[in-house]
Amino acid sequence: MKYIYGPVPSRRLGYSLGIDPIPSKTCNYQCIYCQLGRTTNLTNFRENYYPKKEIIAEMEQAIKLNENNIDYITFVGSGEPTLYKDLKDLILKAKELSEKPVCVITNGSLLYQEEVQRSLILKGKNMSIFDKEYKIED
Ligand code: SF4
Repeated sequence: MKYIYGPVPSRRLGYSLGIDPIPSKTCNYQCIYCQLGRTTNLTNFRENYYPKKEIIAEMEQAIKLNENNIDYITFVGSGEPTLYKDLKDLILKAKELSEKPVCVITNGSLLYQEEVQRSLILKGKNMSIFDKEYKIED
């Protein structure tokens, strides 16, 4: 699969199914400690870097296959996940496909944008946002 990996064991999340909607090293930071290496696409521009339909098709397949083996569905991966413009749609789809909690691992730098806030703060949904040790759940 191109956009899904795992389930992988995570110290914080148990078994996590990873969804990666961002091309390799596309980020708005260049952290020197980044485990992915040097940022090659430094951008603040939010767009659908890959077709949403393709990502959703893989999500449907992977969640169905792993539903009983996972603790979390996690949006993370090769760059900053909030750079994916329709992240909200992907999260809502994940919540439709599974009752497992969804986590977004983000550097938090775009949270000042209302559109990004609306993607992540979903009333009545079990969501976690991780920025290092920071966690919100409702
Ligand atoms: S914010 Fe995350 S993905 Fe981006 S450079 Fe820093 S550690 Fe890497």
